[in-house]
Amino acid sequence: MSKRDYYEVLGVPKTADEAEIKKAYRKLAMQFHPDKNPDNKEAEEKFKEASEAYEVLSDKDKRQIYDQYGHAGIDQQFGNGGFSWSNFSRFDDISDLFGGGFSSIFDTLFGGGGFGGGRGRSSNRGEDLQIELSLTLPEIALGTEKKIKISVKDACDKCDGSGSANGKVDTCTQCRGTGQVRTVRQSLFGQMQTVSECPSCRGEGKIIQNKCSKCYGEGRMGKVKEITVKIPAGVEENQYIRLRGQGNIGPRNGSHGDILVLIHEKQDDVFERDGNNIILEFPINVSQAVLGDEILVPTLSGNAKMKVPAGTQSGRLFRLKGQGIQGLNSYSRGDLIVKVNVITPTRLSREETELYQRIREFDNKRVLKPGKSFRDKLRDLFT
Ligand SMILES: [Zn+2]
Ligand SMILES: [Zn+2]
Repeated sequence: MSKRDYYEVLGVPKTADEAEIKKAYRKLAMQFHPDKNPDNKEAEEKFKEASEAYEVLSDKDKRQIYDQYGHAGIDQQFGNGGFSWSNFSRFDDISDLFGGGFSSIFDTLFGGGGFGGGRGRSSNRGEDLQIELSLTLPEIALGTEKKIKISVKDACDKCDGSGSANGKVDTCTQCRGTGQVRTVRQSLFGQMQTVSECPSCRGEGKIIQNKCSKCYGEGRMGKVKEITVKIPAGVEENQYIRLRGQGNIGPRNGSHGDILVLIHEKQDDVFERDGNNIILEFPINVSQAVLGDEILVPTLSGNAKMKVPAGTQSGRLFRLKGQGIQGLNSYSRGDLIVKVNVITPTRLSREETELYQRIREFDNKRVLKPGKSFRDKLRDLFT
């Protein structure tokens, strides 16, 4: 199922201002209020869907990215599993609807996954983010540098990433800071010991009593950053470039995830890629093919002169050395291969018709033999 448009989710026009968007969200939040819809999975989903839409559309930068790139532009910032409540930063805007204790509602509703706990925190590494980048053939051929705006989670500036309002972080008493609890029980086969994640601190070993009011104890906030991506020459469709340590920071001063840049090749109107070579089909007239000519062909870096010798057959290939794509991890550059197609004129003036009729008299004396020898010749067209 394709993801619904955020504006459609909130029921507002694309031109809606901040106040309209907020009003629409508050209305939906009231409607799908967890207390009003106990044990109603559908309402829960609607509430989450509306909250995701609001998270994006209420933020000027995020909204701009969404307007420009759609879901593809914004999804990556929510981490692998898509939007979760840990991505939601607008609790303030509806907390009055819920009579306070908003975070506790989320804890019960979403099984303690309210602030990212559902994804598991055994490692405190932030999520990897994925962005997609479409490149033109000239960009791929020579490599390029792109500046991209992306929303990345960074340490909350109010609590310096600790998640604590007063800077105080307590050691979990249940697991004594190890993050694990051991259960020993007797069985037929003797003592069995199981180790599992501590339920009190969700494996972190630490507990924050007084959560930061800005990040709700998460210790991180989404911030729009401009990153520079260096694209080496010769990349291909569906290749990834990994920007280490540039992804989301983990909760409470965890380590940074990576940004994965997924490469797409834009279709080119003129050139076709064949490995590191580039193929160009180029039309020439009958007279050019017969008498030869010097033609101007486009290359990735401007036009180049190319000699068409007299007697050139249609389909003949010419190689312009080193005018192709710079190989990835190699010093050599591919070639531009020009395939000339002789175009038969379809609309002739009377004068031209007369000229061709005269040429036919000569052609009639020329014998064309079908068969293998002709095919062999075609195969040798490469010069
Ligand atoms: Zn904070
Ligand atoms: Zn614990």
